[in-house]
Amino acid sequence: MKKFDLITIGSGGGAKISSPAASMGFKVAVIEKDRLGGTCLNRGCIPSKMLIHPADVAIEIKEAHRFDIHHNPQFTVDFAKLIQRISATVDGDSDKIEASYTKHPNISLFKGAAKFVDDKVIDVNGEQLTADKIIIAVGTRPIIPHIPGLQGTPYMTSTEALRATKLPASMIIIGGGYIACELGHAYGSLGTKTTFLVRSEPLRFEDAEITAEFQKVFGRYHDLHLNAMATHVEYNHNTFTVHYTQNGTSASVSAEALLIATGVSSNADTLDLINTNIEMLPKHLIKVDEYLETTVPGVYALGDCIGNYYFRHSVNFEGEYLFDYMFGGKPKTPIHYPPMPHAVFTHPQVAGVGATEEQLKAHGIDYVVGLNTYKSSAMGMALLSDHGFCKILVDRKTRKLLGGHIIGPEASDMIHMIIAYMNMNATLDDMLRTIYIHPALPEIIRNTARRAKMALDKNVVRV
Ligand SMILES: Cc1cc2nc3c(=O)[nH]c(=O)nc-3n(C[C@H](O)[C@H](O)[C@H](O)COP(=O)(O)OP(=O)(O)OC[C@H]3O[C@@H](n4cnc5c(N)ncnc54)[C@H](O)[C@@H]3O)c2cc1C
Repeated sequence: MKKFDLITIGSGGGAKISSPAASMGFKVAVIEKDRLGGTCLNRGCIPSKMLIHPADVAIEIKEAHRFDIHHNPQFTVDFAKLIQRISATVDGDSDKIEASYTKHPNISLFKGAAKFVDDKVIDVNGEQLTADKIIIAVGTRPIIPHIPGLQGTPYMTSTEALRATKLPASMIIIGGGYIACELGHAYGSLGTKTTFLVRSEPLRFEDAEITAEFQKVFGRYHDLHLNAMATHVEYNHNTFTVHYTQNGTSASVSAEALLIATGVSSNADTLDLINTNIEMLPKHLIKVDEYLETTVPGVYALGDCIGNYYFRHSVNFEGEYLFDYMFGGKPKTPIHYPPMPHAVFTHPQVAGVGATEEQLKAHGIDYVVGLNTYKSSAMGMALLSDHGFCKILVDRKTRKLLGGHIIGPEASDMIHMIIAYMNMNATLDDMLRTIYIHPALPEIIRNTARRAKMALDKNVVRV
């Protein structure tokens, strides 16, 4: 049996611990069954954003007439070249990680699927490895719903949609979460006719006002069917037909491509944890304590497979936290997550941090709302904004920020001011003391804070 100081299963967020530990001289085994770099690099954040940016450019071109710029409205997209460029970039990065691991004197790379045979014994390709410290960072994979007729058809998940080299004329998207919306936005803006079948409503976990605004604007670009349950799929003559029920009636829609984006499921079910004392939670998530340690001392887990959050920035945070106390000499204190932000890279963009208004109501918290639209700001006027707003939620007594939500241009960048304010425990007064550059978009945040102050001054929830 080969013995290491550290074994890491999964080379996504797990690398936040394995790489620096190896650089410090610890003997590290990295086990990875797929390309190096995990979901974010190979089939997630990076290729999706490399596809979405050209989609955003396409929207700018199509809508340039709003700014009195007229051009031949026809434009062509070399989709195959675009996808090949994206794939070559991410594959190149992944290859570089593999090469750096292979030549690293302290890293042993095992390419294969890890399976536990005992609490601290792992089998990979018939070899047995052990270590005092083991990190499980196996991530998730797309869920494939049980829809009769689906199996055996050439449907896509996000993984295939980011590698397909043909832009389909039409696509049905089953799902309404951020991956469904982002990929629908990418394909739709580049020229595919998109039809969404969403079980409830798109981006339903956002603040309800954001969800409503998103639906209104996103619906201008995509055919949205809400409360729609797919019941049966047919695939004939290169065409998908999805039958669905919607508010008690049955209907069907046909398209050249079908994208299934109905969520993700933990890969921990592939680890044979039955052979260990590592306890699982429902949905194959791994149970960890407040130190991200599993029920077996010395075995830790992080990232998507523990289900606290499902972002690359959250797994990075967890990895750095673990590294600090496992190898970095920091004291072992419970993990404390700062407000966890998120963004949806669609048109319109959405971003948020902290509580939604619905959550505050549910917890009986006394709050005020500040809400300001893009169109009522100077830069919003220049952008000819016809949608979008910033909304903040402020604790009436302490005047501290409890949450911030933005929908509209550059929302994923704009939200960083609110993230910083929340991290610094800022009050509404701190927000208003700040000088914002005129006429930059963040002035909308200042205007939003002003609205919240008016509500406070008038002792109402919102003005
Ligand atoms: C289309 C898409 C877009 C996304 N966009 C964003 C975004 O914009 N921003 C954001 O923050 N997040 C985004 N995400 C989510 C983000 O990619 C994940 O939250 C993050 O990558 C999770 O990191 P992880 O380390 O937990 O798992 P992963 O990065 O998935 O790493 C797990 C690794 O473990 C390997 N593995 C699994 N089982 C085994 C086994 N038994 N043996 C050996 N190896 C194994 C897998 O092959 C994988 O490489 C996106 C995801 C998708 C699918």
